[in-house]
Amino acid sequence: MQIAVVGAGIIGLTTAHRLALEGHDVMVIAPAEEPHRASTGNAGTIATYALDPVGTPGVLRDAPNLLLNPDSPLAIHRPSALSLVPWLLRFARQSLPVAAQRNRQALAGIALDADTRWRALITALGLDALLHDRGALYAYDSPQALARGAEAMKARQALGAAVEMLYAPALHALEPALPEGRFAGAALFPGTLWLDDPAAVLTRLAASTRAHRIDARSLSLAPKPQGWQIDTDRGPFSAEAVVLAAGAWSAPLLRPLGVKIPLTAERGYHLEFDGIEPLTRPTCPVAKGFYFTPMKGRLRAAGTVELGGIGAPPSPHRWEKLEQGVRSVFPDLPPPSRRWMGLRPSIPDSLPVVGTALPGLICAFGHGHIGLTLAPLTAELVSRALEGEAPQPALSPARF
Ligand SMILES: Cc1cc2nc3c(=O)[nH]c(=O)nc-3n(C[C@H](O)[C@H](O)[C@H](O)COP(=O)(O)OP(=O)(O)OC[C@H]3O[C@@H](n4cnc5c(N)ncnc54)[C@H](O)[C@@H]3O)c2cc1C
Repeated sequence: MQIAVVGAGIIGLTTAHRLALEGHDVMVIAPAEEPHRASTGNAGTIATYALDPVGTPGVLRDAPNLLLNPDSPLAIHRPSALSLVPWLLRFARQSLPVAAQRNRQALAGIALDADTRWRALITALGLDALLHDRGALYAYDSPQALARGAEAMKARQALGAAVEMLYAPALHALEPALPEGRFAGAALFPGTLWLDDPAAVLTRLAASTRAHRIDARSLSLAPKPQGWQIDTDRGPFSAEAVVLAAGAWSAPLLRPLGVKIPLTAERGYHLEFDGIEPLTRPTCPVAKGFYFTPMKGRLRAAGTVELGGIGAPPSPHRWEKLEQGVRSVFPDLPPPSRRWMGLRPSIPDSLPVVGTALPGLICAFGHGHIGLTLAPLTAELVSRALEGEAPQPALSPARF
């Protein structure tokens, strides 16, 4: 089948790679330069343990404080506040106890076995050296926060995530570079994976996929009697099927077709410190809302959330806030070597949209905080959708 994959982030490229291996005739359409695509600058974790949706009763309770304080790890891009209201109302509904528990269970159904799929993909790509399995840590500032963390972890453990709670001495034994006394303890997710160079994975995926690449800055989609017409600034193309994997940019491409999906951007930021490798596994100072991830030859601090603002430039104060968080753990780091902002494509229920929206049009976007984790599964689900399988109800484009 002739298939156009729209978008060249981790979701589009993993899907194109799989479909080409299955023998389809694949073209990948995306802008040549896209500095804010989420897939290059993320924290690199294969987060099989990330079973909590963003919206929970606790987040809803703290929302006014979190969202209105521009310094909090979860803030609103102020100029976008008005346009965010409909999304926020849906988010509030998804944060109520019954909905949050339903979303947690759905996340467990798609995330828990992501490591098996990633191991297979990385080996197929010949990139085993980039994949590490020393687990990840959530580090808590105080004994009270540690106790609350242990309580919150019970919901994940009940769904099958492995979690070990550590007091400060055990944490220090695992990560001696963390300053003594800085954290009261941590949750360890033993044996979980991370990638020390997400951008290199994208490059290898693109290079090893037999697909025609079209560097288009704009496009629109229109159904034809047999398949789809794709009009771009590089000319018109046609395909029997389209996979829409344009991350946070996906929803506007669907609107003219009458398909409305509540998608917004959660802008995330990173700072990198070249030549600094203090830690041996991804470590999240929970109160600060980011991960320190040991990347190849450098330390990356990646995370925090700023809701909205898809076309707006980065907010410099968010980097300053992130740097304060970094220095609250490692005060003596040199100035950052580089900084970055990317758009997490986010849906109010924290679940991606994967499946057929219209005949021959498959959605594959909205992966929020765990798109790297879910990329190989998404490619598999797209392949099954092309064979006619109905979407999982929790992921269906028709659920809104
Ligand atoms: C700071 C941060 C940390 C993160 N950490 C993790 C983590 O540790 N683990 C994890 O699993 N996930 C993590 N994530 C989330 C993860 O990075 C995203 O969910 C994932 O990268 C989304 O991939 P994507 O391919 O859907 O989108 P993107 O990577 O954003 O790609 C979108 C693609 O669509 C293209 N596009 C845009 N507009 C158009 C158009 N009009 N036509 C055609 N193409 C278009 C873009 O150029 C790009 O190629 C993190 C995200 C951030 C921001």
